[in-house]
Amino acid sequence: MAHDEVMSPAPAPEDAALEEQIRPQRLADFPGQAAIKEKLEIAIPAARQRGEPLDHVLLCGPPGLGKTTLARILANEMGVSIKASSGPVIERQADLTAILTGLEAFDILFLDEIHRLNHAVEETLYSAMEDFEVDIMLGKGPSARSMKIGLKPFTLVGATTRAGLLTPPLRARFGDTCRFAFYAPEELQTIIMRAARILGVAIEPGGAYELAARSRGTARIANRLLRRARDYAQIKGDGVITREMAAGALDMLRIDNLGLDDMDKAILHTVASKFNGGPVGLNSLAVAIGEEARTLEEVHEPYLIQIGFLKRTQQGRVTTAQACKHIGLEPPPSDGRRLF
Ligand code: ADP
Repeated sequence: MAHDEVMSPAPAPEDAALEEQIRPQRLADFPGQAAIKEKLEIAIPAARQRGEPLDHVLLCGPPGLGKTTLARILANEMGVSIKASSGPVIERQADLTAILTGLEAFDILFLDEIHRLNHAVEETLYSAMEDFEVDIMLGKGPSARSMKIGLKPFTLVGATTRAGLLTPPLRARFGDTCRFAFYAPEELQTIIMRAARILGVAIEPGGAYELAARSRGTARIANRLLRRARDYAQIKGDGVITREMAAGALDMLRIDNLGLDDMDKAILHTVASKFNGGPVGLNSLAVAIGEEARTLEEVHEPYLIQIGFLKRTQQGRVTTAQACKHIGLEPPPSDGRRLF
């Protein structure tokens, strides 16, 4: 696996089977995201007691934090089936209608990347969410007429990395919005210890903490680093992931003490040196680095912003003095002025 795939919070195909194996199945096995769990621990039994489906819920946050996992947990906790699709895959209204009419009562429909639904499909979703019905067109041309068909009550669980891109009418139809936060190292340590138990990997708590602290607050990265550290400890040690083994594996992967990799450093260096600290527009930055603007924005930037290394201003991206210090550069003289 290439180095940037190791640190990417997006799933790699060969990881899919392993991810399935370690995905928590119940709310009680899902560490972290306390604010979200607190709400769901009320909403789930309340809906069950009333004999109603769960309200439509929107899950927002960067990739790899557990949105898909939580959608599946919701289905398990409600005792219903889940069907999954994603915004860009559903191209025509008829595709969505086929999915919706195939749902059983109270089923969960999980739509990943819901901000990427096309307009016509999104409009079909409005009446489906609100009134559990969809309009279908019968015939073509001037004699065409529309007919309403009823749907069984269902729950839409939408996931998005870009909540800001959701249209107001779609957003308004969700009963609740759950915002995922980056995990604290202690939470990721718990996630790593649990995954190690399931995969039969020997790991010491210190080793798990070292991996956790350098996983950019992201569960998927933590699980992936666990597998890389397992390989390293097997070849360089006696198979046990101690703190030293974990640190050795991470150094080999060129992941620094804050979890930043070569791509993060390239972003910071480019803004700090080539663009004199910024502000630089997203597209210019993407061209300078040779990465897609969307990947920069959805995958790399959130964590750099979270740790205070990058700021988004109206004029563009700006590095902070803290970031310059971390990568060993002098902050540009105007840094302070520009930020305030
Ligand atoms: P997303 O849909 O937000 O991109 P996923 O739900 O696919 O993220 O999670 C990515 C990986 O991280 C999965 O292997 C999942 O098992 C693991 N994971 C995510 N959140 C947690 C958590 N709270 N506890 C344990 N594992 C988690």
